[in-house]
Amino acid sequence: MKKNVIFIAGMRIEVCCVQTVIAGSGAAGLAAAKELYDQGIEDICIVTEHINGGTSRNTGSDKQTYYKLSLSGGAPDSVYKMAETLFGGGCMDGELALAEAAGSVRHFMGLAHMGVPFPQNRYGEFVGYKTDHDPMQRASSAGPLTSKIMTEVLQKEVEKRKIRIYSGWQIVRILHENESVQGILCIKNGSRRMTPEFKIFRSNDVIYATGGPAGIYEDSAYPECQHGASGIAYQAGVTGRNLTEWQYGIASVNPRWNVSGTYMQVLPRFISTDKEGKDEKEFLEGWFPSREDALKHVFLKGYQWPFDARKSKDGSSRVDLAVYQERVEKGRRVFLDFRNNPWKCPIESWQLCEEVSEYLTKAEACFGLPWERLQSMNSLAYEFYLKRGIDLKEDRLEIAVCAQHNNGGMAVDLWWQTNIRGLFAVGEAAGTHGIYRPGGAALNAGQVGAGRAAAFIASKKELETKSDLSHACIPQIETALKTAISVGKNQNEKTADEWISILKKSMSEAAGPIRKLSEIRKLLGRCEDLLEHFDQKVGIGKKGIGQVFVLEDMLYVQKMCLSAMLDYVEHGGNDRGSAIYPDICLQKSAEQIEEKQRKLEGQVQEIKLIQDGRTQAIWRKVHPIPYDDHFFENVWKGYRINKNIM
Ligand SMILES: Cc1cc2nc3c(=O)[nH]c(=O)nc-3n(C[C@H](O)[C@H](O)[C@H](O)COP(=O)(O)OP(=O)(O)OC[C@H]3O[C@@H](n4cnc5c(N)ncnc54)[C@H](O)[C@@H]3O)c2cc1C
Repeated sequence: MKKNVIFIAGMRIEVCCVQTVIAGSGAAGLAAAKELYDQGIEDICIVTEHINGGTSRNTGSDKQTYYKLSLSGGAPDSVYKMAETLFGGGCMDGELALAEAAGSVRHFMGLAHMGVPFPQNRYGEFVGYKTDHDPMQRASSAGPLTSKIMTEVLQKEVEKRKIRIYSGWQIVRILHENESVQGILCIKNGSRRMTPEFKIFRSNDVIYATGGPAGIYEDSAYPECQHGASGIAYQAGVTGRNLTEWQYGIASVNPRWNVSGTYMQVLPRFISTDKEGKDEKEFLEGWFPSREDALKHVFLKGYQWPFDARKSKDGSSRVDLAVYQERVEKGRRVFLDFRNNPWKCPIESWQLCEEVSEYLTKAEACFGLPWERLQSMNSLAYEFYLKRGIDLKEDRLEIAVCAQHNNGGMAVDLWWQTNIRGLFAVGEAAGTHGIYRPGGAALNAGQVGAGRAAAFIASKKELETKSDLSHACIPQIETALKTAISVGKNQNEKTADEWISILKKSMSEAAGPIRKLSEIRKLLGRCEDLLEHFDQKVGIGKKGIGQVFVLEDMLYVQKMCLSAMLDYVEHGGNDRGSAIYPDICLQKSAEQIEEKQRKLEGQVQEIKLIQDGRTQAIWRKVHPIPYDDHFFENVWKGYRINKNIM
């Protein structure tokens, strides 16, 4: 690796020159590094805030899912069928759906080969189960920590190949000229107020695998250590796609963990209290015609985890609405109570619906208290909290309706390249999904995208590593240095840590699963004002200078998402996916709403920052699934010429 030094604004900055830099060390980033190396691109390095950071490494769920083409049993499946399922989620481009379906087996088998223990039966079939939004049984799982295991095996492969990892470097700018990437600017973790340490990675290509924009909501199921870096990309002019589309659902807040599956099927009690934990009340009853109906929908929540606008009027998503109202509207704290049965009535006294009673009877769990049923049906789920200091037979579990995944993100083409040449977004940073996606499709998309970006880079004719940095990058670097110097001098303003907690809370209140237009407008105004006067209004807090750039990144993401939401509504958008917009029903008739919503079906929203910090959104037709030439001789010929990469 060539290195040199430049001086900007009196600061000495080391420049490391490589062919490709991979930003982020989650499942997608590590896969991209391995794929690049295996395709002959060895002059690469990984730059990450922390090798053990990110969502893949630090999260999971009851049974964390990986989605792929069926590899067992007799039910017919095909690449096109899987592409149609992905595409059927709405607002997902057909070529991406096809590529994710086509690449799924290769990457799944690769992971299995590297040691991810996806279960096989005695004949070697990788058996599957049905996950949400899945018409087949395409899902597999290596247990609650599938994505963590993926990062572990992938890291071993990266280490075997001696790929250099720079851990402890936070990306603060994407450097670019004429819509072409030049590298990234990073700040060292723990940099001191007056002497921050910066480093530039100059590269022909950047694979951006910095994960989802996890830090913008207070009520969040993402791990605390992950905040993402999508805002920096939007600041550099990358187009965002489907930024309105998120997944929210009920999760415990400390520790952050989805309370799906058995946690709901054992029928815990839902209670709320005042801020001090007193004045305990059960609150579900008013949301359902009867207690039995409430219990049925709590049970269904087990496998209908994400909040779904379609289930919010008479389905299981009323449970999420009830939790949301207690916590956000009434300002109370909400808990699951496994110590007592709902309404403190013994289970034997309930008239449970057939589905629930049959399930609990089959599972030999139609007895006792919720924690006893949980221990009997899924002792690992009980022990998960025990290991983290919460004994569900004695303690209440605090919950909220939390952001868990951004289906949208940076807009990419068939090779996961963004509108900035040489800048590829893979994993959750990329916005390849639409309104709904099958559970497990995120992990598949991360692996497929990493492979395709690597293949595209490896196919380039000019691979010589560049070391000169264009003049256009100097002002981009200067803005970051200026911010670091200016905020270092601010004493009396709110610190970055304080701003972050204020804005996250507002985001959860205004623009989570329930989107309130006037509050969204207010919050957008606040974000824009703070961005405009950033260097004067932000000070350095306990978490140091790095946190100032976390705030800056978060502000850009909030601005883009809030602008996308307002634009969506202006174009007639209404309740869909994991969000509802209650104000719209008050303003328009049901017919008007339906007509406008129909017009939006099959349309994709893309949004980017333009001059003066304004955003510009466009709507275009969703691309259909392509039906390509399948005549073998032709495909082979093209493959021999350029591997059909074009
Ligand atoms: C509770 C929960 C359950 C989930 N369950 C499932 C599931 O069952 N199936 C499924 O498919 N998906 C699931 N997901 C989603 C899935 O886990 C994520 O989408 C996926 O792990 C993201 O992987 P990634 O590699 O893109 O990003 P991450 O794993 O988040 O990695 C991001 C990397 O970038 C680094 N980074 C971030 N910002 C910076 C910066 N500024 N500078 C330098 N480095 C930076 C981080 O340190 C990290 O190394 C779940 C998510 C959550 C929160």
